[in-house]
Amino acid sequence: DKVLVIGSGAREHVIATTLLSGPGVDHVWCAPGNPGMEPDDISLLQLDSSEPAKLIAAIRELRIDWVFVGPEAPLTAGLVDDLQAAGIPAFGPTKAAARIEGSKGFAKDLMRRHGIPTADYAVFHDLETAKSYVRSHGAPVVIKADGLAAGKGVTVAADLDQAMQALDAIFIDHKFGQAGARVVIEDRLAGQECSLMCFVRGEQFWPMPLSQDHKPAYDGDRGPNTGGMGAYSPLPQFGPELTQKALNTIVAPAVRALAQEGSPFTGVLYTGLMVTDKGPEVIEFNARLGDPETEVVLPALTSDLGTAIRTLMEGGEPQFTWDESHSRLGVILAAQGYPGNPKTGVPVPLIAPEQDLRAYYAGVSGSVSTGLTSSSGRTALVVAQGDDLAQAARRVYDRLDGLSMPGLFYRHDIGHRGLEA
Ligand code: ATP
Repeated sequence: DKVLVIGSGAREHVIATTLLSGPGVDHVWCAPGNPGMEPDDISLLQLDSSEPAKLIAAIRELRIDWVFVGPEAPLTAGLVDDLQAAGIPAFGPTKAAARIEGSKGFAKDLMRRHGIPTADYAVFHDLETAKSYVRSHGAPVVIKADGLAAGKGVTVAADLDQAMQALDAIFIDHKFGQAGARVVIEDRLAGQECSLMCFVRGEQFWPMPLSQDHKPAYDGDRGPNTGGMGAYSPLPQFGPELTQKALNTIVAPAVRALAQEGSPFTGVLYTGLMVTDKGPEVIEFNARLGDPETEVVLPALTSDLGTAIRTLMEGGEPQFTWDESHSRLGVILAAQGYPGNPKTGVPVPLIAPEQDLRAYYAGVSGSVSTGLTSSSGRTALVVAQGDDLAQAARRVYDRLDGLSMPGLFYRHDIGHRGLEA
């Protein structure tokens, strides 16, 4: 098959290389992709996913067989609906099903209706009612803009002042535009977070190994929250019972609810879990693969991704098998200033694949022959595989610590919760 992957990040890079590594796919285009993908024979298409008509014309001209939509923005905008209406098979949820990510209020109401464990919450449309609720609720409390805000729409407020400031930013400064037309206010959950991603078709699902992201920018989980600074998988601190319980109490009822309510989900459902004293609870759902989790999870797939997705879309029984006897750990190389004002034009090293280590590229411009430079905050992610987590961590950090990368920074403690376990 010939496949088009929509997106431009390290997640799309690993989706493309995983597709290419099996017999089901012989060529991959990525739109728009990034120049760090070129050494893997991924063809770049300078097309904007917000113009489906142009995309559809290109897909027909290139005789592309099916499309994998990576990021949330085109999914919540309905790109899968547009492609399917044009008769092009597309892997990802419809606009209606993607609301599980696109509206936190929608996701919370669905969980409440179906008894899915998650923090207690209320939804508000105006500042005054929201503030009086927060005053009577007290701190700590979590304030969330309803819509997509690239990971920046959430404030975990330790005191009332912080909570009020977050509400002012949403309702007075309109910091998140339409995404902040509603706000979800929820109780703070305590515990360790992890990510459970599943391939889904209607009420059926096929889980991937657990993984864990690191949101804060700096070592020791300090500094501002980012889109994610690194990840590892599997998680030595959690046994198979945790996954099984999350599948039974969260994933199964969620996909059943979406199907029963008329918006069946096909694609990848990402569940952000908080492992509390009472068991796993939902922090958030995403309607797609997580970034950077995907970069440490997909390389563990031992079956053929392209064949499995094609089979899944056609209604057959897909094979997803995983190597969980090795660990994979990935570290993001970020441009100085990220997440606030990342420096652009900073040189990004080109790291050729080695036996147990390779890089996936994200926010880079330039070219492989003349050199890559930063074009946004997260430039690349370097992943190593090891017999255990400690070996994977050593392999990544031995490589990174030997490079001189002025203008870039990375966390030195990715995997610390798993290494302490
Ligand atoms: P955005 O919508 O802006 O893209 P997001 O989808 O990443 O943000 P969430 O995952 O809901 O937002 O929240 C971001 C982070 O805030 C979580 O990873 C978690 O650390 C923290 N958080 C969210 N909700 C809670 C909660 N109820 N209790 C404790 N921490 C929470």
